[in-house]
Amino acid sequence: MVAYPQNHGYTYMFDCGMASLLNISDITKLRAVFVTHTHIDHFINFDTIIRHRAGGRVPLTITGPLGIAQNVHSKLLGYTWNLIGKSSNCFEIREIVDENTFHIYKIYPPTWKLKPPIVVRSKTLLEQDGIYVQYRVLDHKIPSIAYKLSESNKINIGEFPYKPGPWVARLKEMYLNNEEGDIEVDNQILQASDLFTLLHTTPGFQVGWAMDHLGTEYNHQLLEDLFRNIDILYIESFFREVDKEYALKHHHSTSFRSGGLARRAGVKKLKLVHHSRRYLSEIHDLLEEGKAAFEGRKANFSQEATAKYLLKE
Ligand SMILES: [Zn+2]
Ligand SMILES: [Zn+2]
Repeated sequence: MVAYPQNHGYTYMFDCGMASLLNISDITKLRAVFVTHTHIDHFINFDTIIRHRAGGRVPLTITGPLGIAQNVHSKLLGYTWNLIGKSSNCFEIREIVDENTFHIYKIYPPTWKLKPPIVVRSKTLLEQDGIYVQYRVLDHKIPSIAYKLSESNKINIGEFPYKPGPWVARLKEMYLNNEEGDIEVDNQILQASDLFTLLHTTPGFQVGWAMDHLGTEYNHQLLEDLFRNIDILYIESFFREVDKEYALKHHHSTSFRSGGLARRAGVKKLKLVHHSRRYLSEIHDLLEEGKAAFEGRKANFSQEATAKYLLKE
């Protein structure tokens, strides 16, 4: 999925399963790619991004679980690079170790050498261009990263008895820095702190992305905590609850469980994505199951739910 935050021309991408469908303009504007894990359905089309960004003029950040640096490096080494020269622009890889630690690697064309990383201790994975990204490490038998991308809080100015001008931006800056002092407003010198009451802060938009994970308490606690009251959540609904044993055995969740989790977290809008092809003929009911759990009502199925997966011992 590609996110387009307001007020700047960059795009951000979650996973690469559908990257082959993007146009060059989308890929050129990419600032970062957030990979949950590198099972083939989530990473296969990373090659499309390589094709349009390797040796380009703008650096690209790729984030993911432990091993992502090796995954990206190996993909790059799968091609021959004698036609591009040395460049100071790179792929920057942020490899998540745990809830508080990640590694930063920078790899440059044409050799793409993987040197020892910088170790960063922070709960914020990325902060740039008016957005910041937080994460949790979920259990999917392997680590699977859940991401929350937030726009920075916005400072708005209410009704004011002065002519608008550059002083508005300066006042916002002083407010942010908690700075006292004079400010020239409409040919008058005023105390900035007296004008702070004209300003009010509104929270920025927040989007969540959680793909493959075991649909049990441990992961749900992490996700509820990360996604508390966010604006929109994209979450896996690969299996139906009737197939829960199969889902859990394969370290997945169900549509019903994802809907319930989003309700408990107070998510404002839910998008159930990433479905098993076996439910193609009953996709409405697969979605209805999660939607009903999200809305706290009984599901309105078009047909009786039957298991699609047989458990083998
Ligand atoms: Zn998957
Ligand atoms: Zn997976």
